Amino acid sequence: MDFSSLNLCQPLQDALDEIGYVSPTPIQAQAIPDLIEGRDMLGCAQTGTGKTAAFALPILNAMAKYPQDGPRRIRTLVMCPTRELAAQIHDNIEQYARYLDIRSMAMFGGVSQRPQERNLRRGVDILVATPGRLLDLISQRYVDLSHVRFLVLDEADRMLDMGFIRDIRKILAQIPKKRQSLLFSATIPRSIVDLSNDMLHNPVSVSITPESTTVEAIKQSLMFVMRSDKRDLLTYLIQEESPEKVLVFCRTKHGCNRVSRQLGQDGIDALPIHGNKSQGARENALRRFRNGTLQVLVATDVASRGIDVSDISHVINLDLPNEPEVYVHRIGRTGRAGRGGITIAFCDENEGEYLRGIEKMIRQDIPVDESHPFHSEKARSRKGNKAPKKHQNRGRGRRYPRHHKSNGKRSNVKSNQQTNGGRNGRRRNRSRKQNKHRNNKSPRRGKRTS
Ligand code: AMP
Repeated sequence: MDFSSLNLCQPLQDALDEIGYVSPTPIQAQAIPDLIEGRDMLGCAQTGTGKTAAFALPILNAMAKYPQDGPRRIRTLVMCPTRELAAQIHDNIEQYARYLDIRSMAMFGGVSQRPQERNLRRGVDILVATPGRLLDLISQRYVDLSHVRFLVLDEADRMLDMGFIRDIRKILAQIPKKRQSLLFSATIPRSIVDLSNDMLHNPVSVSITPESTTVEAIKQSLMFVMRSDKRDLLTYLIQEESPEKVLVFCRTKHGCNRVSRQLGQDGIDALPIHGNKSQGARENALRRFRNGTLQVLVATDVASRGIDVSDISHVINLDLPNEPEVYVHRIGRTGRAGRGGITIAFCDENEGEYLRGIEKMIRQDIPVDESHPFHSEKARSRKGNKAPKKHQNRGRGRRYPRHHKSNGKRSNVKSNQQTNGGRNGRRRNRSRKQNKHRNNKSPRRGKRTS
């Protein structure tokens, strides 16, 4: 089966050709025809199956078919649990809609709302949002959902786990009843059935068994190694296995630079790609990686979003991500659309907590490979340990909207602001001190501004 048999409009078809999608993944083949017919859908599928395109393509197709007169209004709302997922869905939609006059935006908490307000004022057709910030901006009257015709809840089970159900229900109450609604979830517990009964009308159900997911087509392995040996292990693997195209993930931009420099010293052709590199340097690295003249690309997660290379043979997690879903996105860079691929994760003495989170999310233990000279029992023995604070959520702001602490569980992932690090944290501290000072000087003013 190829995309042309799905009767998508030409601009979408052209975009898919350019992106390099040849045939639909199983969930796309199952879902797209029913969604084009206008049916509601309950989809059971995990990230990595191609479900973003499964819902985005038919919605874009319908929006292109029935363009709107007058100013842009939000016609599609996609809700999802995390900022990373919101950014990724938005990126994908932008790619698919590159030849359509349709504007999308991502909205999430933990960052200033000003740019989001500006974007909304300019006009948006598709809004991809996490529920907390969306509700904030609705209550401030920046968001009008009265023209929404397409509604998607993605990773609904995670949103419920994170305590978003009340926000979701409040948001649903703002959306017209006459709409097409889609709910995707990796698991279908009772709470999801209840929610789907309330929000879906006569839905078709699609379910992708784990055997056919992209993630399942990938051979994963795990290597326990001390932090100080990671570099040597990386060189060893690349020299031993001579992989064709390796994408190495590092936590920081600085780490990317260092690793690619060290690989170069070991005689391996490697380049870094991250946000501090100039556009020219990034394009050059990507072009060489694509055409096969560069063996190793060393990337941060953010930079890797723009990497659309279909034949990556190996993904190596030099550092484990602290968000489990990031691991799934990373390994999804290989084994595209059911093709096989190899991923290797390094786990050092400080990363046991991240490993547990990842294994819990993918619902399997990653097979351990001890057949290398740097295997460390000490790193393995720390699997039960908590990650050191300095690694946690580096430089990425608050993960959950503030009022979601109300579910009684404080996130143990501290943000910059909570740890008083980063520019915003310092600024806030400074203004707290100033307020204290002011209050001391004239206690009768008595007004607390912080
Ligand atoms: P998702 O489950 O939507 O996060 O998609 C997982 C990965 O598969 C993403 O990197 C997509 O770009 C890629 N992908 C989705 N559909 C296709 C397709 N039909 N052909 C090739 N790659 C795809």
